[in-house]
Amino acid sequence: MPIRFIQMADPQFGMFSSISKLTEEEAISRSREGLTLRYVEQEFDGFAPETKLFTKAIKYANEYKPDFVVICGDMVNEADSDDQRKELFRITSQLNKDIPIYWVAGNHDVGNTPTPETLNSYRKLFGEDNYSFQIENYYFITINSSICSDPSLIPGEWDSLIGFLENELEKASNMDATHKIVFLHHPLFLETPDEPDNYFVIPFPRRQEIISLLHRNKASAVFSGHLHRNNYRNLKGIEYVSTGPVGYPLAHDPSGIRIVDLDGTGLRHHYLSLE
Ligand SMILES: [Zn+2]
Repeated sequence: MPIRFIQMADPQFGMFSSISKLTEEEAISRSREGLTLRYVEQEFDGFAPETKLFTKAIKYANEYKPDFVVICGDMVNEADSDDQRKELFRITSQLNKDIPIYWVAGNHDVGNTPTPETLNSYRKLFGEDNYSFQIENYYFITINSSICSDPSLIPGEWDSLIGFLENELEKASNMDATHKIVFLHHPLFLETPDEPDNYFVIPFPRRQEIISLLHRNKASAVFSGHLHRNNYRNLKGIEYVSTGPVGYPLAHDPSGIRIVDLDGTGLRHHYLSLE
């Protein structure tokens, strides 16, 4: 049976305000890094733009009636802000109760270098960060890519993550799942799998370990966020899709969400603007 899900990424409550407060020098240096900054004319507090965009995203989800919604990380800009998270959960509660929502941990949720404390606090608020779920013969696996980014302060977490991923992909292969789909926050790569490490992607060699598991088990697709723009690559039949933000856009793509349709013949998706 065909199913449909909606992928969202980076609602990141508080980012518009934090960008509005950059000094001119900081803004220029971000532009030099290739980022397109908007709405920097006037400093402001709070998260009114995020509220508007995420409310619209949830409204679309209620209209599209997907089998589930997945939010690929960076739910808030400051993980220690109760206000930002309260607003996130307030709007999330407007999602129809019969549509399940799955959370994916982002670097703004657990830190660029996660610690036992940040992981604990995330798990208390959002539940498990490495988990899987199935709908009919479709298999979905979610991992916490900040652990892949920098596991230096959390001994054992990377080993347990990669062991989990291997196990789950094998389970999906053994049951001959129609689709094996992975959700995470950081893209594995932007252009090519052997590109040099940079802020946006999972570093070598952990990137390679994950990619080889995906190939061995013939995964269908990997959906990420983190870039605040869309990015599409295809490698050996696996689609690597990074989806633009529900919140603040850092390139030319508007804020938006992705509608994904799956069936026995394949996978189709498109990006829907919220602007
Ligand atoms: Zn991020």
